[in-house]
Amino acid sequence: MASVTLRDVRKTYPGGFEAIKGIDFAIADGQFCVLVGPSGCGKSTLLRMVAGLETVTSGDVDIGGRVVNQVEPADRDIAMVFQNYALYPHMTVYNNMAYGLRNRGMAKDEIDTRVREAAQTLELATMLDRKPRQLSGGQRQRVAMGRAIVRQPKVFLFDEPLSNLDAKLRVAMRVEIRKLQRRLKTTSIYVTHDQLEAMTLADILVVMNGGVVEQIGSPLDIYSKPKTTFVASFIGAPPMNLIKLRDDALSTAVAGTGAGILGVRPEDLVLADAAPEGGIALDLTVETIERVGAETYVYGSRAGREAAVSATPGELPEGEMIVRIPGLDAPAIGAHIRAVAPREKLHLFSADGRTRIE
Ligand code: ATP
Repeated sequence: MASVTLRDVRKTYPGGFEAIKGIDFAIADGQFCVLVGPSGCGKSTLLRMVAGLETVTSGDVDIGGRVVNQVEPADRDIAMVFQNYALYPHMTVYNNMAYGLRNRGMAKDEIDTRVREAAQTLELATMLDRKPRQLSGGQRQRVAMGRAIVRQPKVFLFDEPLSNLDAKLRVAMRVEIRKLQRRLKTTSIYVTHDQLEAMTLADILVVMNGGVVEQIGSPLDIYSKPKTTFVASFIGAPPMNLIKLRDDALSTAVAGTGAGILGVRPEDLVLADAAPEGGIALDLTVETIERVGAETYVYGSRAGREAAVSATPGELPEGEMIVRIPGLDAPAIGAHIRAVAPREKLHLFSADGRTRIE
């Protein structure tokens, strides 16, 4: 096992595009770190630099106390699991898992022990003679995991390993990966653009945007105290409602704080006649209802505001709010409702959204 430390890591691609603009963080031995952020934010670039598949323009990548910038991928003691599995189609499951070990000249007995152990762990023991095309997507993904496990690396690197699976299998595999990592206690870095996957897997969550780290912390910390409006709207689904404060009752509720933007999560709003003391009330006209099973999302527009024009993370929806209510009993489309939240559930940000006030 090993810690992974990044010190002022930068990447400029040939042609001059700066994809990573100075990143610092440390992952302790045995931790599961998830890099999350929108498409193009630099997650894969960063992971590939740790793997050694991409050169580091400046700064240091340190694995287990050793700077590895100049070390070949094969000598970094890491194992990577990719989105497309990268299995050899003509080889059996057994040989796919054994391949890397044979290449290293490991003794046959040792290879056999490791492959059978991994197959047992991953419930692939009865499939060792099959070829990848005779497996389901989830089973192929497990073979790819098996290939990483048999190497007994210091660090696992995952690049969106579940994105080719259907929704149900994704959830099942997510649970499997977490269980496996808890058992093996191998330091892991996992890239995803799926915030739910990020929240459920991570010990330490790194939210990236435009080549920099927006926030780093435990999932709970980031959910409950997002530092910027970008993080506030990226983490949590449906996303946090963000309201530009104008000269109205809402600004009165948070007067004296210097806030320019008020945030409130859909799950922190309830339907009621009046706001709790010190809290806020939003008067909404119901536009759409989404029943997702145990709960219902009510989309409403605020009187006197235009409807939302953009749902891009970090941008402010103007006027449209989401209220998450338990059960299936929803108000009618076109109804006028009042959604309220207490003061302690409000998130306050500076007008540019870059600073959390409280
Ligand atoms: P996604 O979720 O879409 O995979 P990502 O966050 O993993 O995105 P990267 O693949 O790391 O993003 O890419 C970061 C930025 O660097 C993007 O703007 C991309 O266009 C750019 N980029 C990636 N590879 C190269 C390259 N070889 N040459 C030039 N620019 C590149």
